[in-house]
Amino acid sequence: MKYRSTRGQVAGQSFESVVLEGLASDGGLYIPEQLPSLPSDWQTRWATLSFAKLAAELITLFVGSDLTPSEVEQLTERSYATFDTPSVTPLVDLDPSSNTHILELFHGPTFAFKDVALQFLGNLFEFFLERKNAREGQVDKYKITVVGATSGDTGSAAIYGLRGKKNVSVFILHPKGRVSPIQEAQMTTVLDSNVHNVSIEGTFDDCQDIVKQLFGRADFKQEHSLGAVNSINWARILAQITYYFYAYFTLMREKGKDAVPVFVVPSGNFGDILAGYYAKSLGLPVGRLAIATNANDILDRFLDSGVYEKNAEKGVLATPSPAMDILVSSNFERFLWYLARDHEISSESSETVEAQASEIIRQWMDQLKTTGSFSVTNAALDAARQVFWSGRCSNEDTYKTIAKYYGREQPYLLDPHTAVGVHVAEKLRPQINALCENSGKVHTICLSTAHPAKFSEAVLKAVNENGQNLDFQSILPAPFIGLLEQPRRCLSCDNSADAVAQLIVENIN
Ligand SMILES: *Cc1c(COP(=O)(O)O)cnc(C)c1O
Repeated sequence: MKYRSTRGQVAGQSFESVVLEGLASDGGLYIPEQLPSLPSDWQTRWATLSFAKLAAELITLFVGSDLTPSEVEQLTERSYATFDTPSVTPLVDLDPSSNTHILELFHGPTFAFKDVALQFLGNLFEFFLERKNAREGQVDKYKITVVGATSGDTGSAAIYGLRGKKNVSVFILHPKGRVSPIQEAQMTTVLDSNVHNVSIEGTFDDCQDIVKQLFGRADFKQEHSLGAVNSINWARILAQITYYFYAYFTLMREKGKDAVPVFVVPSGNFGDILAGYYAKSLGLPVGRLAIATNANDILDRFLDSGVYEKNAEKGVLATPSPAMDILVSSNFERFLWYLARDHEISSESSETVEAQASEIIRQWMDQLKTTGSFSVTNAALDAARQVFWSGRCSNEDTYKTIAKYYGREQPYLLDPHTAVGVHVAEKLRPQINALCENSGKVHTICLSTAHPAKFSEAVLKAVNENGQNLDFQSILPAPFIGLLEQPRRCLSCDNSADAVAQLIVENIN
């Protein structure tokens, strides 16, 4: 199993190097050179596996000779033991009358879906670095310094994934006073010596800018082996494929073998739903994947028009679902590569289809940078619609949806990101029902990406405005109780790349 970059200048990379490198040196994203085949008896042999064992089966298909099946299984067992429920990602009923379910992805240590990938990625980093050192009889020759910026969710999930890992230092920048109190507490109460929270006098964009500048300093990057854990890392996508299969098997057991799942995914950078695309491409029988966006709706507009347009004038809009506030979706490039390969290339070219696809990606990304948009052919757009549906949810509808489901006889409290998905599922209801000609076989699975307690402000606003009562204390997960009062460690730093670089050098383990 080898990996290539979507931009075509790098190929033949091993799984290990792709994981440690993150982004390819040509600026592209790594994808497998070929998709593996599932074992012919996967539908029976995998049907009753635990989440960790199913993850091991799937991940083993993608690692080549870099890890043995038992090494993968040890890593997945360790990664998913930190979740607070044995099924890791339970499937619960939301609305039995329309066959709508919630796939709860928030049972990890930071109560957001990003834990599914980052718990695994942390263990994977540690394993690869220790093995590289051991092979050369070294102790700490190979290290990684993870530097990232966060407005909340990614930072805490990264910190919990990497805390205490050997040969890994982590520096997470957040804008001072602009992260929700609970998320700030989640990050800064982690006292492991390899974890460094850095609060910057500035905005989230300033933090991101600084990180970009540091990665752009080739000497600094090499000297400190800078690494990234943002969702462009292939291992994160890979780890997320598991819950699509796991949900499918749960559905088969509980709702019958003829059930057809439609997955609705609250999307920002397109990492979560891209894993669903890979699951479908591997052969998982999925009816459709529905992209749900908030007011930052570049993906919904693309599915509507075939034009991928940045909307730079308006910039990123602030919404009650901040983890989906993006201008462009970084992982969409991976899907676009497949779209280009299968629907945009010329049969007359002497180049390979892969080389042509990468050439098209380079042109599109270039156009996006210079003109702010690019468009695909009608054939490509039609093909995209065979896989994806999409919909958008306004701020107002986000609050309304939270209140609506909390007000039911069987109340369910949605977090604002999940509410975006549930609202889009409601909008798509006619299409969803028509998919199996109203036979009742189709089941809508809305992915729930965060626990509502993480976004208390939006959730309380939604239910209070609707005249409902919510005792917030009663829904707090145990680790959140008393969290705000626990000891913290956080460094503050000027809003400049030089100052952060100096801080990293002084504090690196
Ligand atoms: C990151 C995140 C998302 C968006 O996921 P993508 O992979 O970026 O599409 C949605 N909801 C929550 C709570 C998140 O943390």
